Amino acid sequence: MRIGRIETAGGFEWVMAEEGRIRRCTGDPFSDNLVPGAVLVADASTPPAPPVGPSKIVCVGRNYVAHAAEHGADVPTEPLLFLKPPSAVIGHGSAIVLPELSHQVEHEAELALVIGRRCRSVAPERAWHSVLGVTCANDVTGRDLQRADAQWTRGKGFDTFCPLGPWIVTNLSEDEVGDLGVSCTVNGEIRQQARTSQMVFAPAFLISYITQVMTLEPGDVILTGTPAGVSPLHAGDEVTVEIERVGTLTNPVISVE
Ligand code: ZN
Repeated sequence: MRIGRIETAGGFEWVMAEEGRIRRCTGDPFSDNLVPGAVLVADASTPPAPPVGPSKIVCVGRNYVAHAAEHGADVPTEPLLFLKPPSAVIGHGSAIVLPELSHQVEHEAELALVIGRRCRSVAPERAWHSVLGVTCANDVTGRDLQRADAQWTRGKGFDTFCPLGPWIVTNLSEDEVGDLGVSCTVNGEIRQQARTSQMVFAPAFLISYITQVMTLEPGDVILTGTPAGVSPLHAGDEVTVEIERVGTLTNPVISVE
């Protein structure tokens, strides 16, 4: 099942994409009472709003060996966690805005986990029950600022630096999510290409580890780290994160007005 949101005058509404159609829904996916209703438009390619409004976005650094190596960094012995603010989230088709403060903004294609139910101190073997589904993410990063600072709030936290979507895919098993192709293209040219099976710490372990630290709420998002091949973005570029069986997330890049 593919679920997401549209933005209307009354706020966000849940929708479901099926058989080339988008249906408005009643209920919400966190209460297990999402019910599809009337067809909204005939064209499922309509860009939806960000599929979720998280209270927090928990990110994992250096979770692919080759990406750690390209930055001359060691692979951590435990997951390396940092946060992105909810204000960074944009949806499919919205513009990534290059800020004046950074001169090296880079893409990071990542598998995103969307939490479905409140959880704390979850064992790895129980962790997948807390997941609503998965979606595509781009952990956009001001690399020069990340390098300059002891922690990464500034380099990772600009508005528009967290494209998510287009849809939350809810019907993949833990095993299926553990071996999906992840790629990133810029203007149609492949920059990153890997499989989720190459992660150092698997999704269920990450959820367990994170929930030893903080409670995860319905709608919270975990970005599971990026493979090798990160590269700079420039105004006028179009960047696409594609995850096998999950979707294609495309965003234009513009400079600040
Ligand atoms: Zn990242």
